[in-house]
Amino acid sequence: MLKSILSSKDCAVCRFCCSFRRQSLWETPLFDKKTKESLEKKYPEAKFKTAGNESFTVDLLHLYKTDGSEEEAACPFLGESGCVLTADEKPFDCSIWPLRAAKINGKVHVMLENTCPAINKQPFKNVENLVKSGLGEKITAYAEKNPDSIKEIQEGFKVIF
Ligand code: SF4
Ligand code: SF4
Repeated sequence: MLKSILSSKDCAVCRFCCSFRRQSLWETPLFDKKTKESLEKKYPEAKFKTAGNESFTVDLLHLYKTDGSEEEAACPFLGESGCVLTADEKPFDCSIWPLRAAKINGKVHVMLENTCPAINKQPFKNVENLVKSGLGEKITAYAEKNPDSIKEIQEGFKVIF
């Protein structure tokens, strides 16, 4: 959904958002039950755990080899050429990164995370224009229907919408 401002060339050399340090595990992608069950059959090596009331996420804890806080574990769906999931399987979370939904005073807002190097190179106005031209409504509507996708406010979140 951010293709107009995020190039696949940048992502191919980066892949930052498909690997997770322990302190970033709140960020792992969410799947609904049907998708999770289908992925378990297709990728038996992938482990899942519950996340919220109706969602599931990948369980990466067994992949860490050290206690180091900087060690990263890759999402089991990260292949040689990027994400191996189809458009239908890919979590909404992943399709809107580095945007996130979070609540302030009971209202859902769209936040920009500050860790995507490709987005950080752009003028903030580009991201803001994209969010304010329809994407923001889409994200908040999804979040209202899927409350498990609403994140806690994190350091580095910038409210856009
Ligand atoms: S962090 Fe940004 S540039 Fe890197 S792979 Fe993710 S979306 Fe692409
Ligand atoms: S599901 Fe795909 S896009 Fe999302 S974190 Fe895993 S590899 Fe990356």
